[in-house]
Amino acid sequence: MPVGRIALITGANKGIGYEIARQMGERGYVVLVGARDEVRGKQAVESLSAGGVEAVRLRIDVTDETSVVDAAAEIERRYGRLDVLVNNAGIAGGSTGAPSTVSAADLRQVYETNVLGVVSVTNAMLPLLRRAEAARIVNMSSHLGSLTLNSAPDSPFAGLNMVAYQSSKTALNAVTVAYAKELRDTPIKVNAASPGVVATDLNHHRGNRTPAQGAAIAVRLATLDDTGPSGACLAEEGVVPW
Ligand code: NAP
Repeated sequence: MPVGRIALITGANKGIGYEIARQMGERGYVVLVGARDEVRGKQAVESLSAGGVEAVRLRIDVTDETSVVDAAAEIERRYGRLDVLVNNAGIAGGSTGAPSTVSAADLRQVYETNVLGVVSVTNAMLPLLRRAEAARIVNMSSHLGSLTLNSAPDSPFAGLNMVAYQSSKTALNAVTVAYAKELRDTPIKVNAASPGVVATDLNHHRGNRTPAQGAAIAVRLATLDDTGPSGACLAEEGVVPW
């Protein structure tokens, strides 16, 4: 029996990633639930399956090269291709405060997941994405990565000191543009998505949006038709300035 379209979402065991998985499953995708923890991944798959989604657990820690390579080999063995990659796994990092009080180690920890993890997963999955008819890559960014918004005199983020997280999302935007450029002569589209301020574990549930609302823009970018953009950062309300 031919297998339907395949979508891998990293960090899909909870929060926005879980909701992206659910909404992609509702659209008929076979959802590979990327999770670094076996038990949390299994629970998410059980709950998605109970809701009628075709969900498969895939162990992947985006900071562990071996697990990334193993995950790609597993997808290759099972399906031979990948139609959608959502690089959703992300961390806020523990440290806040003025940049002068933040250590290089703090930055390194956040960059390992939010930037280097995305590059490592994308590079491992690209051979599989190239085999799909018209693959889509979505990187979960944030308005907090926008240099324009951060540097505006009336910045909405004045007083917010999360330099590791904020700059990691700026770097992720740059990485998104670079991949879009490399892949511009292929059917693959690469975009960044900003979900808005979503109540999840990442921000101790201080967001005003639900994970389902936050997931919607990622799902839209993951299911773009061939007239859609590539190399953009989009939120529900439109383009997020760089
Ligand atoms: P969340 O509820 O904390 O979920 C984060 C997910 O990432 C979890 O599944 C977590 O797995 C996973 N993860 C973390 N490090 C990982 C690693 N090394 N390998 C694999 N998985 C890893 O956060 P969220 O709010 O849904 O965030 C999802 C994405 O949206 C992140 O990229 C975040 O930066 C972005 N975002 C969120 C907001 C917001 O307001 N919440 C706003 C803008 C952007 P464990 O359960 O194992 O920890």
